[in-house]
Amino acid sequence: MAEETLFTKIIKREIPADILYEDEDCICIKDIAPQAPTHVLLIPRKPIPRLCDASADDQALLGSLMLRAGDIARQLGIDEAYRLIINNGAGAGQTVFHLHLHLLAGKEFSEGGMGF
Ligand code: 5GP
Repeated sequence: MAEETLFTKIIKREIPADILYEDEDCICIKDIAPQAPTHVLLIPRKPIPRLCDASADDQALLGSLMLRAGDIARQLGIDEAYRLIINNGAGAGQTVFHLHLHLLAGKEFSEGGMGF
């Protein structure tokens, strides 16, 4: 059996985290090393390693993550300006191989820029 990911351990409460929200599909936690005043991670319970590993079976789950991201942004009061990032693969900066969306806000993002 594949080894559990860090995020699965957080979901199972084996590792502590600041949990902001959870439902049957996903969990939202504060990032341990925030890159912006608001930096949270939205993580599906299903341990899809990378976005490119998702399949047609995951279509509804991926859609629900996008909607949850909007809901969470509203709840955090950042829905006027936030950035959603998915790093796919080590070369793109992915370090935890369990799909997650970064939701960042509260700092000046360079116009049209991609960095955070
Ligand atoms: P990635 O680089 O894979 O796109 O993002 C992984 C994120 O997980 C990083 O922003 C990193 O700071 C965060 N992270 C790594 N370990 C932990 C942890 O133990 N707890 C929390 N809350 N976040 C973590």
